[in-house]
Amino acid sequence: MSAHLFINGKWSAGSGNRRGQILNPANGETIGEVTFAETADLDAALAGAEQGFRNWSRVSAYERANILRRAATLTRERAETVARAVTREQGKPLPEALMEARGAGDHIDWYAEEGRRAYGRVIPARAPGILQMVLPEPVGPVAAFSPWNFPIGQIVRKIAGALAAGCSIIAKAPEETPSSVIELVKCFEEAGVPAGVLNLVFGVPAEISQHLIASTVIRKVSFTGSVPVGRHLGELSARHLKRTTMELGGHAPFIVCDDADPGAVSATGVALKFRNAGQVCAAPTRFLVQDGIFDAFVEAFVAGAGKLKVGDGASEGVQMGPLAHARRLDAMAGFVRDAVEAGGQLRAGGKRIGNEGFFFEPTVLTNVPLSARIMNDEPFGPIAIVNRFSEVDEAIAESNRLPFGLAAFAFSRRVDRTDRLMRGIEAGMVSINHFGLAAPETPFGGIKDSGHGSEGGSEGIQAYLTTKFVSQLNA
Ligand code: NAD
Repeated sequence: MSAHLFINGKWSAGSGNRRGQILNPANGETIGEVTFAETADLDAALAGAEQGFRNWSRVSAYERANILRRAATLTRERAETVARAVTREQGKPLPEALMEARGAGDHIDWYAEEGRRAYGRVIPARAPGILQMVLPEPVGPVAAFSPWNFPIGQIVRKIAGALAAGCSIIAKAPEETPSSVIELVKCFEEAGVPAGVLNLVFGVPAEISQHLIASTVIRKVSFTGSVPVGRHLGELSARHLKRTTMELGGHAPFIVCDDADPGAVSATGVALKFRNAGQVCAAPTRFLVQDGIFDAFVEAFVAGAGKLKVGDGASEGVQMGPLAHARRLDAMAGFVRDAVEAGGQLRAGGKRIGNEGFFFEPTVLTNVPLSARIMNDEPFGPIAIVNRFSEVDEAIAESNRLPFGLAAFAFSRRVDRTDRLMRGIEAGMVSINHFGLAAPETPFGGIKDSGHGSEGGSEGIQAYLTTKFVSQLNA
C-alpha cells in the first residue's frame, strides 16, 4: 500500500521521491510506504489552507456542524477498517483500536455541537447608544502535529476542533501509522469539507514544522508528543508569535491508600498501565502504595501482569501488543537495567520477548530509588514502578516532585484523603477511584512541563478562537 498526501482537496503522490517505510510492529515486516512532502507540497498546502480558511470561516456554524456530523457518521461506519489499519501499523490489540476508531465519531460530534455554541457576549456600556460586543472568531489556518500512539484519537481532536471553529488545518500525521489517518481524512472529504480546509501531510517532522510554523499563513500551532519536541516547537512558535496548544508527556502517579481494596485497585492499575503497551501519555507510571497494603498490592499486581496475553494485536484474545518501534525496545531495556543497578527489584518481566516483532514483557519494578532514570524520565512503555509511602502528604510530595503535570490517579474510600489528594496533586487531570479521562466532553491537558491548553470539553474549541471586541455608537 502507498500512503499519500491530501493537499487542497486532492490526493497527491508528492512532488519529490522521498518515501518512508511502514512496518508491522508485530513482525517487523515492511507493509507499505508513505509519501514525504517536499517544500513545494507544503507551499501548496499553505496556499490551500489560506484560501480554504477564507471560504470556510464564512460558512455558517450550523452548516459546518452538519458537515462534521456527516463525517462522524462515516467514521463510525468505517470504524472496523480504520481499527484494522491502526493495529497493523501501531500494534495495539484490535478491541483497543476499535474503541479508538469509534471514539473518533464522538469527538467529531462533540466539536460539531460546540462550534454552534461558540458564544460571544454583550458588555453594558458606560454611555447610552453604545453597543459593546465580544465576538469570537476563528484564529486562522492551523498547523497540527500528532503522534503515533493514538494515530486517530490524537489527530481527530485537532481536525474536528479547528474545523468546528471555522479554521482550516494542515495536519502532519505520524509517518509510522498513516493508513488509518488517511481513512479518517476521506470521511471528512466525503462529508463535504471544501478543498483546502483540511490538508494532510507526512514527511520529515523537523522540516515540516520549521516550514509551516515560520509561514505567515499559519496562525496557530497544536502539538502532541514529547516534552523536548514540544519545547522546540514552542521556541519556534514564540519566534513567529504563533499561539500554541501543547499536549506533552507525563509521569502519572497512581496513589493507593491503605483503606482501598488492593485486589480491585491492582486490577485497574494493570489494565491502565499495560493498555497500548504503556505508550500512553496519561498512563500510570509511579504506583505509590501505602505501607499497610503494599505487599498485598504488589502480589496482586505482579500476578495480574504475568497473566496478560501478549501477542499480535490482530489475534483473538491478545491483551497487549508490541511496542510501536524497534527503538522503544532498547529504551525499555535501558530503563530496567538502570533501575536494577540503582537498587530497584525486578518482580516481573524486564526483557524483550523473542526476536520477531517489537514485543517487551509486562514489567514490574519495586522499591526503586528516586535516583533511577525511570523515576524521572517518562518510560512510555510497559514498565510499572511500585514504591511505598507512609503518610498521604508524602505521596503528594512525590507526585509533585517531577516537572510533569499531566494525569494522576488516587484511590481511597476516605473523603478526607481524596479531598487532600485532589487538591494537593499538581496535574491537569486527577482521576479518583476509577479511570475517568479523555471523554470528548471533558478537558484533556497538562500543566507544568506537560504543556498547556486543553483538547476536549468546552475549553477545546477556545484553542481555535480569537476575541474581537467591537464598540459601536449608534449614529
Ligand atoms: P520523539 O520525541 O522523536 O517524537 C515524538 C513525536 O513528535 C513524534 O510523533 C514525532 O514525529 C514528532 N516530532 C519529532 N520531532 C519533531 C519536530 N521537529 N517537529 C514536529 N514533530 C516532531 O519520540 P518518539 O520516539 O517518537 O516517541 C517517544 C516519546 O514521545 C515518548 O518518550 C513520549 O514522551 C513522547 N510521546 C508523547 C505522546 C503524547 O501523547 N503526549 C505521544 C507520542 C510520543
